[in-house]
Amino acid sequence: MKPSTVYCLKLLLLLALGGVTMHVPEADVVASLGALRLDGHFSFHDAPAAARDFGNRCSLLPAAVLHPGSVADIAATVKRVFLLGRNSPLTIAARGHGHSLLGQSQAEGGIVVKMESLAAGATAMKVHGGPWPHVDVPGGELWINVLHETLKHGLAPRSWTDYLHLTVGGTLSNAGVSGQAFQHGPQISNVNQLEIVTGRGDVVTCSPEENSDLFYAALGGLGQFGIITRARIVLEPAPKMVRWIRVLYSDFETFTEDQEMLITAEKTFDYIEGFVIINRTGVLNTWRTSFKPQDPVQASQFQSDGRVLYCLELTKNFNHDEADIMEQEVGALLSRLRYISSTLFHNDVTYLEFLDRVHTSELKLRAQGLWEVPHPWLNLLIPRSTIHKFAREVFGKILKDSNNGPILLYPVNRTKWNNRTSAVIPDEEIFYLVGFLSSAPSSSGHGSVGHAMTLNNKIVDFCNKAGVGMKQYLAPYTTQQQWKAHFGARWETFERRKHTYDPLAILAPGQRIFPKAS
Ligand code: FAD
Repeated sequence: MKPSTVYCLKLLLLLALGGVTMHVPEADVVASLGALRLDGHFSFHDAPAAARDFGNRCSLLPAAVLHPGSVADIAATVKRVFLLGRNSPLTIAARGHGHSLLGQSQAEGGIVVKMESLAAGATAMKVHGGPWPHVDVPGGELWINVLHETLKHGLAPRSWTDYLHLTVGGTLSNAGVSGQAFQHGPQISNVNQLEIVTGRGDVVTCSPEENSDLFYAALGGLGQFGIITRARIVLEPAPKMVRWIRVLYSDFETFTEDQEMLITAEKTFDYIEGFVIINRTGVLNTWRTSFKPQDPVQASQFQSDGRVLYCLELTKNFNHDEADIMEQEVGALLSRLRYISSTLFHNDVTYLEFLDRVHTSELKLRAQGLWEVPHPWLNLLIPRSTIHKFAREVFGKILKDSNNGPILLYPVNRTKWNNRTSAVIPDEEIFYLVGFLSSAPSSSGHGSVGHAMTLNNKIVDFCNKAGVGMKQYLAPYTTQQQWKAHFGARWETFERRKHTYDPLAILAPGQRIFPKAS
């Protein structure tokens, strides 16, 4: 039995006996937390659920789960653990929707704060119109709920992730990148204010003007400096409809040149992404259920078998009375692209349908039992200057025959990122997000974690040896040495901020950056 399991059983026994009959120091500590007067409550039976995440490859059992009923509950809990000082091993992890990949929102033998308990639905969100529209949302709110609420006011956030069943605090602790980032920056560039419970248990409001060091530290800060309990998100008028377009390329250089032209053009699409299709038989046939080919006859003759193809995915927003203008603008933009002419597909869907598109896939995968499988994902940020070298090796050699999930590949502009945040990105004007989103449904062979990890390791090794200048996004590092290398010259600032806001290293232990002070 794992030590953490023993610990938890001792704790359960202690509670069952009224909390007084056994001397178990760690359990005493947790019981003292149980004595806090809270609006919410601690729970012990759902600790196993807090030891799971989307990655499905790491399980660290916490001692207890806090379901906060208020920000004060979180502050009181963190303060109590802070005051216990170096003698207590307790750590605290905020858990958003638990969609981390390798235990980042877990806390072995510690306290997991279930942030969704704090998000009491729409009543807790406040939408403000006017010339600078914004919404105040609890840190544990799901982005899909933020969308539903803001749409009631004809507004919506500008920058998204591909999947909306993630929490505001969770994505702001990483970056939040999708096909709008080239224009608006990542989600961390679209926040005006945060409320944070620091590792000392203080509740601090921060913004670019007020307590700005903490504000920027927390954005992309991997949960290291405080728990985000509220965020003020920038909004824009929401379109009703989206023209959703896919076209294919067989030449990587043409594909990336077109992507880069589009992300730097003055008039362009509203969303620009791309993905790599390796050896997928009849890819166009699988799109026919949701996309219409521009030229059905030519499209039916296109052979996608056994080739590496590159798909450019684009959208243009419009309202019903602007359909003609949208058609003209889309036509003009498409005429500048050099895709394979028979592979133009499009569909018109509501803004909500487009933004929530991955959830549709989630439901299908869940029905087949393919959602709750291990996900050995690898997300890389590759500078523009080395993306061709990277592609030749990775798509031409390492993944020549197979891969076990979508491969995203699209460029973003560095100017839209604020270098005062904690997010680490390559040092070039344009860099690419490349996401290898593998699933591992089987225990051996090509569909296994082992196979995916072998490929991931080959890709990372190549990047390191060939001097690609790659940075990992959602990095799964396990030693401080690796983190230091990741942050490079920015490590000093990151470490200084940690000492200032969470000096005992209580918060987000699952990132494995700083050990709890003892
Ligand atoms: P969790 O996984 O629960 O937490 C992530 C980290 O943040 C942990 O260290 C946790 O302790 C900390 N944390 C959580 N809440 C808070 C808080 N309120 N305050 C401080 N720290 C906190 N990312 C993108 O950028 N773009 C994408 O398009 C994208 N698509 C995705 C699609 C899927 C299907 C999945 C599973 C993930 C995707 N992600 C994407 C990654 C996503 O941003 C991360 O999984 C992130 O961790 C958000 O998930 P979460 O809200 O469940 O947070």
